[in-house]
Amino acid sequence: MKRLSDIGTIKEILSRHGFTFSKSLGQNFLINPSVCPRMAELSGAGAGVGVIEIGPGIGVLTQELCALADKVVAVELDKRLLPVLDETLADFDNVKIVNADVLRLDLHQLIQEEFSGLEVVVCANLPYYITSPVIMRLLEERLPVSAVTVMVQKEAAQRICAPVGSRLSGAVTVSVNYYAEPELLFGVSAGSFLPAPKVDSAVIRLNIRQKPPVQTEEARFFAVVRAAFSQRRKVIANSLSAGLGKSKEEILAVLEQAGVSPGARAEKLSLADFAAIAAVLGD
Ligand code: SAM
Repeated sequence: MKRLSDIGTIKEILSRHGFTFSKSLGQNFLINPSVCPRMAELSGAGAGVGVIEIGPGIGVLTQELCALADKVVAVELDKRLLPVLDETLADFDNVKIVNADVLRLDLHQLIQEEFSGLEVVVCANLPYYITSPVIMRLLEERLPVSAVTVMVQKEAAQRICAPVGSRLSGAVTVSVNYYAEPELLFGVSAGSFLPAPKVDSAVIRLNIRQKPPVQTEEARFFAVVRAAFSQRRKVIANSLSAGLGKSKEEILAVLEQAGVSPGARAEKLSLADFAAIAAVLGD
């Protein structure tokens, strides 16, 4: 098996296939040999586990996942990489490449067809241009997966993994925490990729919750979260009034009933606070 973490090997394969990197597809391939084994190990890949990988590139992480898991299904949009993956994954009979856009693929169907009887995890070095939509889609669709381990830009990792109620907390922090317990696993320097991006990265793991930590009407809860963070600098009374299109008086009454201070800023609120506001709004 070709060791893909070696930069000389990667360059040789890419040049033999006449491959050129596509910036618009977020193609920064891992060349640091220590990252993929660690990421695969921490993803939960192992016996009895099936892995969905998003964007295998030339297969550097895929190889590690195949060595650990019962089965790997890797979704790659760029069809120029298919012959490369045929070559680099030739030693494995437990891998399937699906040439598709992960945002358009029916992942429920994929899991049903490919992973019967297996626990399922997601593991990916995500194309950064679709980090949030991919993560939110994986969570909102309530796929039967136990964990999502992804490499994202360092700033995105810090925001997603910030404690809810802390300065760095944002709409994505609250939304992700509703579905999962996020964990920042380790940082990865920009020099670990070919070509090197401008920013550092980090690997995070979202441990999917069996049930949400608060009981709420979801559409209203997420509308409140979006409105609250739409104008971060404003106090919650003003951002909710503007974001939900309701008068200030109405919102002040809602906040009082929900037991939330009108002068607080969105990042200080807990999941229970957002759920309380949503509940009063629904009365
Ligand atoms: N896993 C490889 C690695 O770590 O070296 C490649 C990671 S690279 C950051 C992202 C990969 O996602 C690329 O191979 C790119 O072609 C693929 N990709 C981009 N957009 C995609 C999409 N919408 N659906 C599936 N794959 C996509």
